[in-house]
Amino acid sequence: MAKPHVVVIGGGVAGLAAAAFLSAGRAEGAGSAGSAAGSGPVRVTVLEGSGRFGGKLLGGEVGGVRVDLGAESMLARRPEGVELARAAGLGELLEPPSTAKAAIWTAEGLRPLPGGQLMGVPGDLAALRESGVLTPEGLRRVHDERPAELGEDAPIGRYLTERLGREVVDRLVEPLLGGVYAGHADEISIRAAVPQLLELARRPGSLTAAIAELGSRATAAGPVFNGLRGGLGTLPDAVAAHARALGADLRTGHPVEALRRTPDGWRITAAGRELTADAVVLAVPAPQAAALLEADASAAAAELRRIEYASMALVTLAFRRADLADTPLTGSGFLVPPVDRRHIKASTFSSNKWGWLERSAPDAFLLRTSLGRHHEDAALQLDDAELVARSLADLRTAVGLRATPYDRAVTRWTDGLPQYPVGHLDRVARVRTRLDALGAVAVCGAAYDGVGIPAVVASARRAATALLTPGT
Ligand SMILES: Cc1cc2nc3c(=O)[nH]c(=O)nc-3n(C[C@H](O)[C@H](O)[C@H](O)COP(=O)(O)OP(=O)(O)OC[C@H]3O[C@@H](n4cnc5c(N)ncnc54)[C@H](O)[C@@H]3O)c2cc1C
Repeated sequence: MAKPHVVVIGGGVAGLAAAAFLSAGRAEGAGSAGSAAGSGPVRVTVLEGSGRFGGKLLGGEVGGVRVDLGAESMLARRPEGVELARAAGLGELLEPPSTAKAAIWTAEGLRPLPGGQLMGVPGDLAALRESGVLTPEGLRRVHDERPAELGEDAPIGRYLTERLGREVVDRLVEPLLGGVYAGHADEISIRAAVPQLLELARRPGSLTAAIAELGSRATAAGPVFNGLRGGLGTLPDAVAAHARALGADLRTGHPVEALRRTPDGWRITAAGRELTADAVVLAVPAPQAAALLEADASAAAAELRRIEYASMALVTLAFRRADLADTPLTGSGFLVPPVDRRHIKASTFSSNKWGWLERSAPDAFLLRTSLGRHHEDAALQLDDAELVARSLADLRTAVGLRATPYDRAVTRWTDGLPQYPVGHLDRVARVRTRLDALGAVAVCGAAYDGVGIPAVVASARRAATALLTPGT
């Protein structure tokens, strides 16, 4: 008997991971390098619309140096991303950042990001004071914690303003949250974005003391983040090769134009050709998933269409190290409180942060800046030269950088990051309930259970589980 055919639509990390999970036939693991091709219970085809796999994972060359132009690091405290890299044979290439010392750009220049914080919420009050990031009044307000209404959920910024004061939100929480979601603290849901904080906030007693206690337990748990030698941009092709070795058929240049439910499965139109599937996984961003589901699941499509996205641009600059002799570029980079209305949102000193990058190009210094966030995509209307000029102007003010880069690249990520406002998780639950009722379809990707790579991989595993073992 022919094996059921599952078509995965979208070849970003979610779609590729889903293909590996489905092909391995064990949703609890993406298979190992030794798993036998075609031994899984389903036949898998991946249809990626663009000419390459990876979506927001993208490598490129700037100044002759291979760097990431999209996502660059993954949380190591959650296992899914690291496990996927290992399953794809990249275990030996995992490498944590060489330095985790980040800074915050204040009116007085760069100040160290205080240790012991959870998404900017301080745990170590002595470190917070020493960092100089907050004014004496801001510090006093953090010490003077006040009760705040939390309920089932609340926007992080609003809740913390009540509990610890506005300054800590503006100067610490907002920049850290902005780095992950490119969103606004006053909109993003605690439950969806930082569930750990929700749990700590519900405990009786001081929130900062609860974070301090959590921090002391986590110190021994190894690196917080991991990267890959050669960049995370190398992950998609490795996972694609791994899924192929497990028997999956993966195709680029196959944009799916239409999807229709049939009595015994699905009819898919991709690149002008039709194919059939017993089940589908939608691993595309929410607006594209909505368009494909409109005909057969209009209520789910309407929910998906309400998920908003932030757009941003990354400017990667390559300098000659010799030109930077007088510039103090230390640590992994700095975050910028949006309240200060600078052009850039953050800068990563890539050659400091990644040992592999420094080793591969010792005479060059690569750094990148990010611009734009949710509701503020004016930056994306500017041309490349202007984005570079604004980045250089801010770098000059922040760290006195006056050198001219010998190469530059601007990468625009229009609708790059989904937003998780209060109510997001309920919306996602409604989407899944409606699709479960339709049957033989699952969704995964950044729009659902978290935007970080491990969460995206977990959502792929969940989609594979739902299709391999319906009813679980
Ligand atoms: C600039 C930036 C930096 C980031 N940095 C980090 C980081 O350092 N660490 C981290 O953990 N996370 C980071 N993220 C988040 C993370 O990279 C993403 O959430 C994740 O990669 C999304 O994966 P995905 O597979 O869900 O979606 P995508 O990567 O968007 O993949 C979706 C794929 O579907 C394809 N597609 C769309 N429509 C169709 C169609 N109709 N038919 C066929 N194919 C289609 C697209 O071409 C794309 O390849 C970053 C995100 C951005 C934008």
